[in-house]
Amino acid sequence: MIIPFIRKTCKINENTWMFDCLIYNMKEQMALFVLENNGKTALIDTGTSSEADSLLNYLQNIGIDHLDYIFSTHGHVDHIGGVKRLSLRFPDAKIVVSKFYQNLPEKELAKKKSDLVEYHEYLVKNLKNRVIYVGEGDIISLDDLKLEIYTTPGHTPEHIAVLDRKNMNLFPGDSIGGHHLGSGFSRPAAYPPYFNHKSYSKTVKKLSQIENLKSVSLAHFGVATGPQVQEVFKISEDVFKAYKDTVVESYQKYNGDLNSIITALLDKFGRSPNEIKDNRPDSLIFRILGGISIGFINALDLKSKFKVDLK
Ligand SMILES: [Zn+2]
Repeated sequence: MIIPFIRKTCKINENTWMFDCLIYNMKEQMALFVLENNGKTALIDTGTSSEADSLLNYLQNIGIDHLDYIFSTHGHVDHIGGVKRLSLRFPDAKIVVSKFYQNLPEKELAKKKSDLVEYHEYLVKNLKNRVIYVGEGDIISLDDLKLEIYTTPGHTPEHIAVLDRKNMNLFPGDSIGGHHLGSGFSRPAAYPPYFNHKSYSKTVKKLSQIENLKSVSLAHFGVATGPQVQEVFKISEDVFKAYKDTVVESYQKYNGDLNSIITALLDKFGRSPNEIKDNRPDSLIFRILGGISIGFINALDLKSKFKVDLK
C-alpha cells in the first residue's frame, strides 16, 4: 500500500519516527527524524532549543534512551538550536556535521556575524572530541543500517543530506526547499546570506537522480512516499523558478522596493495553511518572504543588473 504523504508524528518505516516539534507553536512546519536499528540510534536535526523538552519527552515515549549520533544537516537555528541541550542530555552522542566546518572560507570568517562561524566555534569549544566531520559518500552505520552523506550546497554552502540506504529514505534537510506535503504549498529555501541559486539547482537535480528512492523525509514538512517522491523534486524545481521569476519581475516593476516584492510573493503564492495570519511588516511571514526576496536579489545580483537601489 502506498501512503502518499505523512504529516503526523508517527513511525514512518521500520527504523524511523517523524516528530512534529511544533516549532514556534505552529504545527506541520518542522519535522525531526529519529532512527533506531539494532540498538543504534540517530537524530536528524534538533529544532531550536525551545523544542528540546518536547523532543526529549518524545524520545522517552518511543523508548529511545540514548542517542549515538546527532546529525546537523546545516547550521540554521531550527536545525541545530537544540544541539546544546541534547548533547548534554546524551553525553555519548557524536555530532555529525559537514567537513566544510573544518576549513571555513576566509570571507566567512571575516564576517561580523555568521551562523557558520558561530556553530563551528561552538562545536570546537564545547564538543571537540565528539564531532564527526563528513563529506560526500561517507557512511555512518547504525549496525547494518547505513547512512550515506551527500554534500548538498545551495541553501547553505555546508549543507549535507543523509540517505538511509536500508529503507532508501532521504533526509534532504532544507536543500530542496520547504514543501508542506499534501497542502499544495511550497517555497524555495532561498535565504540570505548563503543562498546560491546555481548550486541549489544542481543539488535538487543531484538528489532527484538517486535511484530507487522510496521516500523523502522533509524537515519542512512531511514524508513523501512512492510516486510522490519524484513529484517533490519536480515541485521543488517549479517553485524555485516561479519564485525567482516573481522576484525578478517585481524587482523591476517596483524599483527594488522590498515591501512591494514581498506583497507580490504573498499575492501570488499565499502562505502555508498553518502559518499565523499576520500581515504586519515585522511578522514572520514578512521576514520569511523578505528573506527569500533578498536571497534571490543577492544571488542573481539584481542590484547591478537593473541599477536599482534596494530600499
Ligand atoms: Zn535552513
